[in-house]
Parts: sequence; C-alpha cells; structure tokens
Amino acid sequence: MQKLVFATKNLDKLKEIKEMTSSWDVEIISMTDAGIDIEIEETGHSFEENSIIKAEALKQYTECIILADDSGLEVDYLNKEPGIYSARYLGEDTSFELKNKDILRRLDGVIDRTARFVCSMSIAQKGKQTVTVIGTIEGHIGHEIKGVNGFGYDPIFFIDSDKSLAEVTSSEKNSISHRAHALELIKSILDKWH
Ligand code: IMP
Repeated sequence: MQKLVFATKNLDKLKEIKEMTSSWDVEIISMTDAGIDIEIEETGHSFEENSIIKAEALKQYTECIILADDSGLEVDYLNKEPGIYSARYLGEDTSFELKNKDILRRLDGVIDRTARFVCSMSIAQKGKQTVTVIGTIEGHIGHEIKGVNGFGYDPIFFIDSDKSLAEVTSSEKNSISHRAHALELIKSILDKWH
C-alpha cells in the first residue's frame, strides 16, 4: 500500500485525516512515522501559501507523496480573523476554551455572525509540480460554547441555528467539513498521480 506523509504535528488533524481516508488505497503516516523531525515555519500570508510551504518543506526528506494542509476559522465581522492565525490566536498555548470565550466576547451584541472554516490542502512529491486546493464549510458563530466532540473552534461554530460542529459525530463532521471538501479534490488528483 502506498504511503502518504501528512505534514502536521497536530494529532487531532492527523486522526481526522486517517479516518477520512480509511477507504483510500493508501496509508497515511505522520512526519514522525516518516522519521522527519523538522520545524516548519508558517510564514505565508494565506492558507494556500502556508500549505504549499509545509508540503514543499518535506519534499527533500522523502520519496513518498506528501499531503499538507493549513486551516482555520474566518469570522466575517472580525475581518476574517483569526484566519491563518487560528492556532496562534491569543498565543499557541492558550486553551481553546479561552480562545472561544474571547471570540464570543468580541461578538457580543453582533447580529451578523457568519463564519467559515477554510482548509487549503497541497499534494507534493519530488519531481512533481505541487497542486493546491481549497475546501470550506459555511456557518455562524453561536452565542455559547456547545458540544464536546471535535476540537479547536468547533464548539462555537454552528452549522444550523442550534447545532455546533462539536455536537455532531466525527463521521458526520468528516463528511461535511472544510477538510472533507479539500480531501475530495485531493483524491481526484491523487488518482491521476498513481
Ligand atoms: P494549522 O495547524 O495551522 O492548520 O491550524 C489550524 C487551526 O485552525 C487549529 O489549531 C484550530 O485552531 C483551527 N481549526 C482548523 N480546523 C478546525 C476544525 O475542524 N475545527 C475546529 N478548529 C479548527
């Protein structure tokens, strides 16, 4: 089975990607599994730039196909913050409970609460042109922290009037999420690369 290295140290993301590709004819392995121990600085100015940076950074370390993503939450009222800084919002080590509470505080009394999760995903391999796609899921920021599933900003991201993304099962999330949409596009590229 073909091995695909996923360029992340985020175990939540790795878990979701493994679940979502379980029917594919590939084995997703982490950078650690591939013996790659490097820090990749996310110096891009967009999700696309960051996913390309991550994918290309690994090209010299492996013959395998590389998958990399950059994702985050865009809140329209906050000029698309936290955006590419979603993981670093209020500091990398600040808990998501505090990050989520802060976003709710900044939206206190605000009517227009539209938001989306964005996922840019790049597929790369030595000697090949890197290809990058984008997937999104539209929703809105709720008025409370709700649900215990998922991770990150899921408990404040509502997909309908009273259901947050932290209240759906992982298989439901994995069929509608920004990452799922990006992966669908990646799959069609991968099929042509084999
Ligand atoms: P990245 O590792 O630089 O792509 O950072 C992604 C960050 O965006 C995560 O740490 C979360 O804060 C947020 N994020 C991305 N995808 C999701 C999701 O599916 N649910 C909740 N938060 C997410």
